[in-house]
Amino acid sequence: MSTIEDRYKNLKERISAACSVANRDPDEIVLIAVSKTKPDTDVLELIKAGQVHFGENRAQALQDRMESITNPVAVWHFIGNLQTNKIKYMASRVNWIQSIHKKKALKEVEKRASEFERTINVLIQVNISGEGQKSGCEPEQLEGILKYAQNLKYTKVKGLMGMATFADDPETVRPEFKLLCKLREEHRHLEKGSVDLQHLSMGMTNDLEVAIEEGSTMLRIGTALFGERNY
Ligand SMILES: *Cc1c(COP(=O)(O)O)cnc(C)c1O
Repeated sequence: MSTIEDRYKNLKERISAACSVANRDPDEIVLIAVSKTKPDTDVLELIKAGQVHFGENRAQALQDRMESITNPVAVWHFIGNLQTNKIKYMASRVNWIQSIHKKKALKEVEKRASEFERTINVLIQVNISGEGQKSGCEPEQLEGILKYAQNLKYTKVKGLMGMATFADDPETVRPEFKLLCKLREEHRHLEKGSVDLQHLSMGMTNDLEVAIEEGSTMLRIGTALFGERNY
């Protein structure tokens, strides 16, 4: 077995074990393979092994990846900081944009998706780490964003995304994951039209067990699959 296949198998076992502890069904958790900076050959190997969802955190990197990997099985997620003016470049292919945090970006996704007459799924990224580290909307802004999204046609909100603080001890970020889960429950009444809050995208290599215990339905995993990155 190749190193990647081996890591893939180990990761799946890790996810299953975490699901048993949390008394959850592994089938309700989507694994996003975050391939940033890694070669296409690694991605192709994972596709061969059965992996479907792939994520990139830079617009250009996603663009390049979607052009070079033509296997229609792959489902593409954009997971990084998103400049509104980059949306048009990914709109013909991207399946999920996980990092929407303002109405203006939703409006642009809707415009571009309608041009291609295709659906784009989005998650609303919420700032759960505090820290003034500006990734995601503030919790108070979520209601307005979701209300706006209810009436969109080509853009479907499927849940919330959160980036936890970087920490060596995954227990440190448990309150951040709890917050994302609580925010979803508090906004359930806004599930209407194009808004559905099924998904919670939280959990990376270092903290996936805690994320699963706190209700994650989408794990974004890089290192455990592709090995260490050089940055
Ligand atoms: C890189 C990245 C990940 C994956 O991180 P690992 O710790 O390597 O698993 C997840 N989400 C985002 C937004 C990332 O940029």
